[in-house]
Amino acid sequence: MAHHPLRQPVHYLFVLPAVLVALVLWVSLESDDVGRAGQRILPWLLACLGAGLALMYNQVRTLCLLLLVALAFAVLHQDLGHYLRDGRVAALTPLRFHAISTWLPLLFAIHALWPERGRRRQDLLLRATISGVAVAVFILLAAQQPQGMHDLLSNRHFPWLPSDWNALAQLPAMLFLLATVALGWQAWRQPRPLHTAMLLALLCLWWMLPRIFLQPVLLPALSVAALLLMLAATLQESFHMAFGDELTGLPGRRAFNETLKRATGTYSIAMIDVDHFKKFNDTHGHDTGDDVLKLVASRLSRVGDGGRAFRYGGEEFAVVFLDRPASACVDAVEALRQGIEQSRMQLRDRSTRSRDDTLGQQQRGRGGGGAVVQVTVSIGLADSRVDPRPAGVVKAADRALYAAKQEGRNRVCAHGGQRVLAVRGSHAQTASR
Ligand code: GH3
Ligand code: MG
Ligand code: MG
Repeated sequence: MAHHPLRQPVHYLFVLPAVLVALVLWVSLESDDVGRAGQRILPWLLACLGAGLALMYNQVRTLCLLLLVALAFAVLHQDLGHYLRDGRVAALTPLRFHAISTWLPLLFAIHALWPERGRRRQDLLLRATISGVAVAVFILLAAQQPQGMHDLLSNRHFPWLPSDWNALAQLPAMLFLLATVALGWQAWRQPRPLHTAMLLALLCLWWMLPRIFLQPVLLPALSVAALLLMLAATLQESFHMAFGDELTGLPGRRAFNETLKRATGTYSIAMIDVDHFKKFNDTHGHDTGDDVLKLVASRLSRVGDGGRAFRYGGEEFAVVFLDRPASACVDAVEALRQGIEQSRMQLRDRSTRSRDDTLGQQQRGRGGGGAVVQVTVSIGLADSRVDPRPAGVVKAADRALYAAKQEGRNRVCAHGGQRVLAVRGSHAQTASR
C-alpha cells in the first residue's frame, strides 16, 4: 500500500533551512542584541522575498500569511526593544501583546484555510479588506476602552476549563489550539509541503509568544523560522512542479535530462512503453488509462539494482541505471516487465459510482465492482557504450524498444544485435472479471 505523503521524509525537506537559520540566530544573538533596530531587517527581508515568490506563483494566502507574521514581529519587536532598553514594559504593551496573541491565530487560520479562488487581485483585495476592517474595528474599540479590552482578552472566562497547560491567556490559547487542529486537519487531508509548513509555522508562533520577554532571542529565531518554513515550502513545491510529473508522482522529463547530464562512466537507460495503450483508453476511458499509468509508475518506482524511474511523456517511461552496463540491468528490467504483466487492476465501476463521497469510499473499499484489467509493457535497453552522448543512448534504447514492439510486445530487447533477452508469449491486454 502506498505511504501517506506525510510519512515520507522527502516531504519535510523544507524544514531544514528554517531549523538551521533559527539555530544560528539562537546561538549567535545575545539578549541585548535582539532589541536593536538592525534585527528587524532579516524577517522583513524574508517576508518580502517570500511575498515576491508567492505573487509569482499566484499564492495569495502565502503572501498574506508572510505579511501577517512580519507585522506581528514588527509590533512585538518594538515592545520587546522598549523592555530591553528601559527594563520595563511600555503602558500599552500588555494590551498589544494580548491583542497579537488573539488575532494572530485567528487571522493565520482564516487565511491558511481560505481557498484561493478567482483572480489574484480580487482575492488579495477581499482578504486585505476583511482582515483590515476587523483589526481596525478592534483598534477603535481598544482605543476607547483599553482596560476593558485588556480584561476581555486576558481574563479567564471559563473557570471550569483547565488553564495551567498553556502560558497564554485562556482566549488566545483556545484560538491557537483550534487553529492548530484545523491546520493539522488540512495538512492531513491535503498533504502538501505548504500545508505542513503553515501548521509548523503556527506552532512556532504559539511556542514563541509566551516566552519572548523571558528569552528575547526566541522572537527573531522563531519568527524567522516561521517565515522560512513557508518560503522554503513554496520553493519546494515550485521545484516539484518543474521537475515532477503531477499524474504519476515520478520525476518528469526535465529531471530525466538533468540526470543524464550528470551521468559519467558506463550507465544504462531502459525505455518503457505501455502496449496497445490507445486501444486500452478507447475501451476503458481516459480516466482508467490514467489509473493504469499510476499503477505502472508505482511499480517502476520500486525498480531494483539502483535504477531511477522517470515519466518520459505520455505512456512512456524511462529508467536510468548509473554506473552499470546493460547486461547488469537485465534482471531488474525483466522483473519490472513481469511485475507489470502480473499486476491486476480492479476497475471502479464508474457508471454506478456514488456521488456521495463517503458512500463512494465505502464502495471503493469493497473493491469497486468493475472489470479486472491487465496491461503489459515493452522495454528497450541500451548503455552508454553505444554512444558517448546521452541523446545517442536514448535513441539506441528507443530502437531496442521498437524492436521489442516488432517482435510482438511484452518483452525486453537490448540494443546491440537486438538480442531478445526475455519473451513472453501472452500479451493479453485486458482480462475479464
Ligand atoms: P504500442 O503498443 O505500439 O505502444 O501502441 P499504443 O497504442 O500504446 O501507442 P500509441 O503511441 O499509438 O498511443 C499512445 C496512447 O497513449 C495515445 C494516448 O491517448 C495515450 N496517452 C498518452 N498520455 C496519456 C495520459 O496521460 N493518460 C492517458 N489516459 N492516456 C495517455
Ligand atoms: Mg508510445
Ligand atoms: Mg504504447
